[in-house]
Parts: sequence; C-alpha cells; structure tokens
Amino acid sequence: MSDTMNNTMNNSMTTQEIEEAFEVNIYPRRDAVLVRGKGSKLYDEKGKEYIDCASNVGVSNIGHANEQVANALFEQYLRLANCYGIFYNDVRARLAQKLAEITPGDLNKAFFCNSGTEAVEAAIKFARASTRKKEIICAMRGFHGKTMGSLAATWDAAYKEPFMPMLQGFVHVPFNNFERLEKAVTNDTAAVLLEVVQGEGGIRVGDRDFLKQTESLCHSRGIILIIDEVQTGFGRTGKMFACEHYDLTPDILCVAKSIAGGIPMGAVICNEKIKVPKQSHTSTFGGNPLACAAALASIDFIEKQGLVNRAHELGEYLLARLRTIKNPKIKEIRGLGLMIGIELNEKAGPYVQILMEKGIIALLAGSFVIRLLPPLVISKDELDKVVEILSDILC
Ligand SMILES: *Cc1c(COP(=O)(O)O)cnc(C)c1O
Repeated sequence: MSDTMNNTMNNSMTTQEIEEAFEVNIYPRRDAVLVRGKGSKLYDEKGKEYIDCASNVGVSNIGHANEQVANALFEQYLRLANCYGIFYNDVRARLAQKLAEITPGDLNKAFFCNSGTEAVEAAIKFARASTRKKEIICAMRGFHGKTMGSLAATWDAAYKEPFMPMLQGFVHVPFNNFERLEKAVTNDTAAVLLEVVQGEGGIRVGDRDFLKQTESLCHSRGIILIIDEVQTGFGRTGKMFACEHYDLTPDILCVAKSIAGGIPMGAVICNEKIKVPKQSHTSTFGGNPLACAAALASIDFIEKQGLVNRAHELGEYLLARLRTIKNPKIKEIRGLGLMIGIELNEKAGPYVQILMEKGIIALLAGSFVIRLLPPLVISKDELDKVVEILSDILC
C-alpha cells in the first residue's frame, strides 16, 4: 500500500476501524481504545479513567508507567539492548542470580525466553530431554498457553479444535484429585504440569494435600514436577511465588507475565535434575539485556515497596469485603492474594461489560467467573470503590 493511500485511510478511520481492517480478527474485543496508564489507572482515548482490575491479565503487578523500570530500560537500551545467548552478559547474569535467590528450594538455573507459552514449551522439552520419557500429566481446566506444545497441555477443547492434530503424550486428570493423578502415572511419565491457582480455568486454588502428595509422588517416581506460575508469580497471590504457600518445590518453575514490569519476557527456573543438550533449545531474544534490566528493576520495586505483603493484605481485605455482598447471583467467591474470582450462577460477560461502563476493567475466567487481578499498587480506596460498584450492579 502506498503511503498516501495509507494516510488518507488512517485519517478517515477510527482506531477501531483501522484495527478491524488491518489485523487478523482473533481477539474478542471490548469497546475501548486504551492509550495511557499510570499506577492502577488506565485511560481511553476520550480521557475516560478506569480502575485497572486486570493488570493486562496479570502483567502489570507493579502498575503502569513505573519510572524505575522506564529509567532502567532507557539506560540499558543505550548501553546494549540485544546480546544472543552465545555471549555472556552482565545484566543477564545478575537477573539469573536474582531469580535463583527469590525462587523456592534448589531452583538455581534459568533459561530465558519471551512469553508464558514459550516458558511452558521449554519446560515440556526440558522434561522430555531430562527423562527421555514422553508423557506429561496435566490438569483439567488448566491453561498453559496456545503454541502447539503448551496448547496440548491446555485443557479447553475449543482452543485446540481448529488446530488438530495435537502434540502426543498429554493426559488430563481432574485438578485437586490426587488419586486420579496417581492412576495416570505410567513408566513413560516424564512430567506433571500444574498451576497452583488455576487462572483461566476460573481462579481455582490448589489443595495443599493434592499438591504435596503430587510433589512426593514425583520425587519418588523420578517424574519432573513443572509448576506454571506465569499468572501467579511475582507477588500476585501474596507470596513471591504461589508455591511458597505450600512449601512446594518444583523441578521446573515457569514464569512470564509480570516478570519484567510489562516488558515481554518469560523464563523457566530449574534444578540440577534438568539436563539438556547444548544448542537443543535456544531463543534469539531470550535473555536480552533490555528485558533483563526491566526485570531487575521490577523485582527491585516489588521488594522495596513490599508489594508481596501488600498483595496478601489487600487480597484478604478485598475477599472479606466481597464476601459481605449477599446476593443469590453469587455462587462462590474465592482467591489467593490479589487473584480473586467471583463465580456467578449466570454468565459473567454482561457484568464485566457493565463494570467497564462504570469505570472498572475486570476479566472473565471462563463464562461464569469475574476475575480480579488488580495491580499490587492499587489503593484500599480504589478497592472499596470496586466493591461498591460490584455490589450495586449485582443487585
Ligand atoms: C497467560 C498464561 C500462559 C501463557 O502466557 P503467554 O505469555 O500469553 O503465552 C501460560 N500459563 C498461564 C498459567 C497463564 O496464565
């Protein structure tokens, strides 16, 4: 297309129309053009202000437009933005060491990639390479991403149906049912792959017994335990990692979303059981110093501002306040830290829409659950407002 034509079209079209015209129509869209954010607030192109209760699906734990991360990015871009993994790099080294320090148990070795689904892909490959076995046991209602490997681990059939055949070797058992999980183990089981709190699956909190029994089974049978904390990591649930609620130590921890203050990054952090041949799994952008600098700045901000504790306290507060809303439309309210689901007895979509009209951006988790994942910097006043509006619209 010529520049003139492009300009003419752009000038006469709204942002919505341009995106509809020039992008693959694959996201179910909401009717807002978001152009700016600050802390726990988002703004659309008309200047309307929203309280963010989505954090871009758990990305913006430190809030929007964080100056510490912005400065780290600016400085690092002018020093060195890219450095393929065949070279050593000072910033990447610091981040790998930091992740070893803040992750549970003997998780000491990082592999860097660029998204959540890539972290899960790496975990699947690393588990297979380390055990030379094929099968991966996953949970019903689990969500692990949408590239071909992680999609096979994801439960929802609607996501898979257009893309058959799936990668082989994945079995799904009911979440929080240890007996069924144990029965699914064979001599060819490479790994068990689970979330601690299922996010997309409806904010379902893992049982302590289920997770601990699964952990010992994996240890005794030489099965790799992969925990997917792409959504629950970096303070979201009131611990730096949700595993810590249960003293759970996986062999591979998958992280992404909020790791780098909103900059794309994913990682797996592994223990010494994980062995992969050189050159067998690499990524051009994986561990680029730019994203690493953002991650270091973001983790530093989380630590210095006490955001993990804040998520714990505000989460308890919000859960308690929400539970005072007595309404037959509400089936159950559950969550951990600032990861909260309100399950309704009817479809939740219309309510999420009304919330947006009233200045609150929330998410769905399945069809019946309103999911709240506010930035961990959100204030009590803002949470009060969210509760007030929720109780109004549910009446
Ligand atoms: C979002 C998510 C993923 C996928 O991450 P992407 O960055 O979207 O690929 C994987 N696992 C969990 C638990 C998630 O919430």
